[in-house]
Amino acid sequence: AKIVTDVVCPFCGTLCDDLEVALSDDGEEILEVYNACTIGATKFLHSQAKDRVTRPQMKQEDGSWKEVTYDEAVEYTANLLVDAKKPLMYGWSSTSCTAQGTGSEIGEIVGACMDNTATVCHGSTLIAVQDVGVPSATLGEIANRADRVVFWGCNPAHAHPRHMSRYSIFPRGFFTGKGSKSRKMFVVDPRNTDTAKMADVHLQLEQGHDYELLSAIRVALRGEALPDFVAGIPKEQIYETAETLRSGRFTVIFFGMGVTHSLGKNHNIDIAIAVTRDLNDYTKAAIVPMRGHYNVTGSGQVWGWQFGFPFCLDLTRGFARYNPGDSSSNDLLIRDEVDAVFVLGSDPGAHFPVGSVKKIAQLPSVCIDPHITPTSAVSKLHVPVAFVGVEVGGCAYRMDNVPIETRKVVEPPEGMLTDEEFLQKVLTRVRELKGAA
Ligand code: SF4
Repeated sequence: AKIVTDVVCPFCGTLCDDLEVALSDDGEEILEVYNACTIGATKFLHSQAKDRVTRPQMKQEDGSWKEVTYDEAVEYTANLLVDAKKPLMYGWSSTSCTAQGTGSEIGEIVGACMDNTATVCHGSTLIAVQDVGVPSATLGEIANRADRVVFWGCNPAHAHPRHMSRYSIFPRGFFTGKGSKSRKMFVVDPRNTDTAKMADVHLQLEQGHDYELLSAIRVALRGEALPDFVAGIPKEQIYETAETLRSGRFTVIFFGMGVTHSLGKNHNIDIAIAVTRDLNDYTKAAIVPMRGHYNVTGSGQVWGWQFGFPFCLDLTRGFARYNPGDSSSNDLLIRDEVDAVFVLGSDPGAHFPVGSVKKIAQLPSVCIDPHITPTSAVSKLHVPVAFVGVEVGGCAYRMDNVPIETRKVVEPPEGMLTDEEFLQKVLTRVRELKGAA
């Protein structure tokens, strides 16, 4: 077998770049994936499925699916976007930055609302960072230096399975030569997760009281008095935690949706950033969101440099407006404000509230995704595309905002388009229809 090395995993925001993929002698088939976690390896192996959909499918009146050509799919998609008064173009987190850029060009011409998966994930983090800034660090720096590691409201043992072994807990870095023995691991979570079971200290706070506990750590860092319990945690444990965090050489706080989408939302992140700032009075400290999809960070980057805002974009007036809560996908869908839905590189059918999914099912809709998903099932048109990071390369941004170029490992099935090729064809057709060619 032929081995391809330094392959990047296009699944989660850890973007592991040390995978090795064994190919058949003719280089056409993936036989095995080494170094990846189960979910990462499965993505590569799924691309080889014999029953994979390789041509666009249009839903018929009776609910059955009929195969159509890519040209017909382009025609449907371009007309759907041009005819709509206010189309929603959602997703963008499981594709390359180039495709995200081409999508933005289409969105600008048709006057779309554009949103990515941050809207139901780390959008509150982006709002907090805009409000108060962020003391950050790269995962490489963390692997080599961090000796106090906090996981707050996240469960990397399941959601980012190699995060701890590659970057945060186990690696033997330049200043962390004893691996996990060089580090103190804290988990703050109301649940006794598999990550919490590994921690030196598990602060099992009362659900929804993250803001109070973060405030209490600030109070403890200042040496001020605390009540006997905060968020269900005894004050002695809070003082001890504050002392341990400030006495290290480098503290990092990783956080997930347990804080971004619980009571307090972006204000939880504001105060987590304030704790990080306070810690910098004593030691080096950084805070990093555990981003989910492998290129949701890139989507925010691309829109940040193109439009100035990382999600919830409203381009309907020909310039970018940004108002999360108003221009966010679920709010638009629930209020019946969009009249067509375009989804690429995400699965709102699986992740949005059922009320929003019903709206998608009622509207003219297209889903561009290599897999059959709950979203493709409720859409009028499903356009299967090549897997980015497996069958075509492209840039993606890791959770710490480091751009990494993914690799092409095998050819896509014959005649299949990539996201970028499909979007380019839609862009050309949209320009023709708009008379702006
Ligand atoms: Fe892929 Fe994430 Fe697993 Fe790394 S941790 S192999 S990026 S799914």
